[in-house]
Amino acid sequence: KLYNQVQDLKGNIRVYCRVRPFLPGQSNRASSYDHIDDRSLKIITPSKYGKEGRKSFTFNKVFGPFSTQEEVFADTQPLIRSVLDGYNVCIFAYGQTGSGKTFTMTGPKDITEESQGVNYRALSDLFFLSEQRKDTICYEISVQMLEIYNEQVKDLLAVEGSSKRYPSRNAYHIHVFPKLQHTLEIRNSSQNGINVPEANLVPVSSTSDVIYLMNLGHKNRSVSATAMNDRSSRSHSCLTVHVHGRDLTSGSILRGCMHLVDLAGSERVDKSEVTGDRLKEAQHINKSLSALGDVIASLAQKNAHVPYRNSKLTQLLQDSLGGQAKTLMFVHISPEPDSLGETLSTLKFAERVS
Ligand code: ADP
Ligand code: MG
Repeated sequence: KLYNQVQDLKGNIRVYCRVRPFLPGQSNRASSYDHIDDRSLKIITPSKYGKEGRKSFTFNKVFGPFSTQEEVFADTQPLIRSVLDGYNVCIFAYGQTGSGKTFTMTGPKDITEESQGVNYRALSDLFFLSEQRKDTICYEISVQMLEIYNEQVKDLLAVEGSSKRYPSRNAYHIHVFPKLQHTLEIRNSSQNGINVPEANLVPVSSTSDVIYLMNLGHKNRSVSATAMNDRSSRSHSCLTVHVHGRDLTSGSILRGCMHLVDLAGSERVDKSEVTGDRLKEAQHINKSLSALGDVIASLAQKNAHVPYRNSKLTQLLQDSLGGQAKTLMFVHISPEPDSLGETLSTLKFAERVS
């Protein structure tokens, strides 16, 4: 309640910055920032970037290298909970490859209870809350997992063979594709709004359902990746949570939708050094991240025209960006001075959308 009032005053876009710690074996190195507090971060800019000095950036919240997954989630939870009240929500992880996007959204490689990311915690919190409200509202929660790669939408929950592999008893919307990497259309219908009707929409009722599906999505995402060709850093992945609630006394229906998006790496690719597929990927990423920046910036400035049509990502999320919808952008930065150029460009992106 309070959160929604605060949001109404401040607008519906918030930006949180998260600074990755040095990785094991990297300790005692100089870092590219020299001050962090709850709301701001000071970057050391060496002479290469103009006069040596400090450049300060402020955010709705800054998480330093020692912030835990639990602390990050605590500041995200009210936004997530609002989906059960019928709000649409988008949460993005932005940053260069290696800055901690997947860590924030999913967790590290070997996930423990403590290191679970926002995605898992969000769903388990939604289950918890819907159970608490079960005497007044009957909720149904279902998920989709999509990938956008080279401006093509793919279903990360596509399975070959039988739909029996899904854990849910009442899976009502399972499609089976001959090929895992079938390209899907984004549709806009007056009844369902923006949707991807061909993608599996899987009802979930427990955290074990969610873990199962996230693992499946993860596996599908790496199908086309080779060791040298980590596709996950060059595609966007989007876990969409659909909430349908029926008020048990009035019978009225409420719908909410939340997109949890692990974006492609934002690093600029030197056009003189890459060619072919790699260049094409880079151009698609560049185009979609700048389209996302344009959309959020024009919402933040309350522009009349919002350019949703310029990328698949912004088309897909159109219903959940702007209007009453709530947006949270996590911008991630790496602490190493070698990453300073990318860090500054990430922070510039963050300034533009906040
Ligand atoms: P990205 O998805 O942006 O490419 P990752 O999430 O894969 O980056 O993070 C790169 C590496 O850093 C991984 O080994 C990850 O576990 C680790 N890492 C990232 N953020 C943190 C953090 N906040 N605390 C500890 N380790 C982290
Ligand atoms: Mg990643």
